[in-house]
Amino acid sequence: QLDWRGKRVTVAGLGVSGIPAARALAARGAVVTVVNDGDDERSRTQAAALEADGITVRLGDGATLPAGTELVVTAPGWQPDKPLFAAAAAAGVEVWGDVELAWRLRGPGAAPWLAVTGTNGKTTTTRMLASILEAAGLRTAAVGNIGVSLLDAVLGEEEYDVLAVELSSYQLHWAPSVRAHSAAVLNLAPDHLDWHGSMEAYAADKGRIYEGNQVACVYNTADPATEELVREADVEEGCRAIGFTLGTPGPSQLGVVEGLLVDRAFVENRQKNAQELAEVADVRPPAPHNIANALAAAALARAFGVDAKAVREGLRAFRPDPHRIEPVEEVGGVMYVDDSKATNTHAAEASLAAYEPIVWIAGGLAKGATFDELVERSAKRLRGVVLMGADRALIREALARHAPEVPVVDLDRTDTGAMSEAVREAARLARPGDTVLLAPACASMDMFTNYNKRGEAFADAVRELAATGDA
Ligand code: ADP
Repeated sequence: QLDWRGKRVTVAGLGVSGIPAARALAARGAVVTVVNDGDDERSRTQAAALEADGITVRLGDGATLPAGTELVVTAPGWQPDKPLFAAAAAAGVEVWGDVELAWRLRGPGAAPWLAVTGTNGKTTTTRMLASILEAAGLRTAAVGNIGVSLLDAVLGEEEYDVLAVELSSYQLHWAPSVRAHSAAVLNLAPDHLDWHGSMEAYAADKGRIYEGNQVACVYNTADPATEELVREADVEEGCRAIGFTLGTPGPSQLGVVEGLLVDRAFVENRQKNAQELAEVADVRPPAPHNIANALAAAALARAFGVDAKAVREGLRAFRPDPHRIEPVEEVGGVMYVDDSKATNTHAAEASLAAYEPIVWIAGGLAKGATFDELVERSAKRLRGVVLMGADRALIREALARHAPEVPVVDLDRTDTGAMSEAVREAARLARPGDTVLLAPACASMDMFTNYNKRGEAFADAVRELAATGDA
């Protein structure tokens, strides 16, 4: 355990991670200064509360490194090219994120981490994993980039046997010494490239999750980039590379055989070369990408020694979170599905692959993405498209290139109220038996506070449509 007394720590960002980090450090005797770009009503209230506890807060200046800083603890979202970090590097000062801080503050004998990252499916897989661990009778929680912060889990009263940890690429970037028991990278597709700078940098940050793994590095056989990251990782001796596949598994893999999830990596009975875990029908929803998530969760649980029965029970008990391919209502023979959480093209492609024909509602903030591949691969499933949001022109142009025959309604709107017009337009394009799918392939912040609000606006609009009998 580090001795924090008198250590000068600068916390970057007042927010969900910054405030608890500042308090935890101050409680251990560190001399804490919080720097924050914003200087609004809310941050002033937060600052006053921290200052009352002896923490210095500098509002409106997140760029300058306070003199004498010995360590920077940053909110995970802060972009690496910020001047604060250049100043830290010049001064030879280390930068930790919230996850690194949690790792360093863990007590002796603390619960090991089973870690999950990937471009898409992180939350779903982490929750499935926690559900499986619970079914095995272990004291656990789904934490990290997922509601409960790691710092809260690590410093709280509750005792755990093992943690199911979701890590974002941002968090991994700032977590140099975290060592998981076992970890999975679900998939790697371009996302957040504006933040990381390049696909290579993004992949390298995701790949950190495998560093120092003790038992298993779980990868996706359908995504060679994930296997490549395993090869590059420096792991503990005896740590195995475990693949998951939607096809028949090879040795050291989990996969699917005749409607069953099957494990050939961790076999319980030495007489057999495979262990049946669960039925495909135990996975909700049983869409291909989600079966992949279930296999990844099962692989991590099995690496931790969980038996087949608990995998099955845990998968059966699992319920998806809202706004992830969530059926809202059927109106006039058309099913309305909310996948507001499809905030990038890779996620949208997974849900577009699950239905046909589709009236697709899309658009928002593209975060530097291009839409050609998504549109090309999904074109034949599209009945029509309704576009809104800041970067809708990028999608419209991709549609013109790869799906010129598909009717497109461009709402030319970026206000919150556009969602109800989008749903009405989608209803006009749809025929009975079709699915209207909100899978924006973009972030929501141009129009909504977050993807939850976007999904709720969609569901409200669908109910309004049902009530007015407009269909
Ligand atoms: P994350 O936490 O990584 O954002 P979620 O589990 O919240 O992932 O799922 C987000 C969306 O990504 C889902 O609504 C679905 O559209 C898509 N998705 C989920 N799992 C996968 C997967 N394995 N591959 C591709 N897309 C996926």
